[in-house]
Amino acid sequence: SDVLALTGIEKTYNRGEPGQIDVLRGLDLAVGRGEVVALVAPSGAGKSTLLHIAGLLDTPDSGSVTLNGADLTGQRDMVRTIARRRDLGFVYQFHHLLPEFSAAENIILPQLANAVPEKRAAARAAELLERVGLKDRAGHRPAELSGGEQQRVAFCRALANQPALLLADEPTGNLDPETSDKVFAMLMSLVRETGLSALIATHNLDLAARMDRTVRLEQGRLVAA
Ligand code: ADP
Ligand code: ADP
Repeated sequence: SDVLALTGIEKTYNRGEPGQIDVLRGLDLAVGRGEVVALVAPSGAGKSTLLHIAGLLDTPDSGSVTLNGADLTGQRDMVRTIARRRDLGFVYQFHHLLPEFSAAENIILPQLANAVPEKRAAARAAELLERVGLKDRAGHRPAELSGGEQQRVAFCRALANQPALLLADEPTGNLDPETSDKVFAMLMSLVRETGLSALIATHNLDLAARMDRTVRLEQGRLVAA
């Protein structure tokens, strides 16, 4: 079964006004279990709109959203929020770590929000930091880490609650090419080791080529690339 299934997704902004924009026009996407899909989209094509809908942060005008077996179409905000916290991990171009907390605390906090006991959350944070080679950085605040290290902590945070699906938007987009390459390789091995499914938006075709397949957002729909 698919981890994420979007079917017939339509999204229009400014409906009925002169500035009406039909961003998504019957878009379909299925991400299978353990599958890593690259999303390529020219600027303005609707990448953010798509990721917000897949991330349960926005709702489509029509179409259905099924995540990890649950049809979330038309569900109340609370149901969607619970599904988001339980089943999704997010990584952005910028790390968005909490500046006043340490690397480890940034990974512990989302687990506490999911009612994971503190000891177990701390053990999980330590394990994840070790996997990305940052065991000795656990007590550092984000400002004390390099850009690549900050992004590695952000990956750990995204995986903290063992989500079914990782949604990433240019996860290494603010790093220099060499660091981006290394950090991306680390993300991919984390994803592969845990059998995680992922939808990763990128402009970098070399990175896209390392994923299972690539889809391109074109005129409101996805086409194989
Ligand atoms: P991308 O992330 O690919 O650049 P977006 O999903 O942000 O694209 O936006 C797609 C189109 O929809 C753009 O033309 C954008 O200006 C428009 N758009 C996005 N959000 C809104 C909004 N809240 N209201 C009106 N237009 C919007
Ligand atoms: P990079 O070579 O990856 O750009 P930096 O030169 O920024 O890394 O940092 C090198 C090392 O020094 C990193 O491992 C980082 O954790 C550490 N570091 C950087 N800035 C600080 C700081 N303000 N306080 C403590 N450690 C820091």
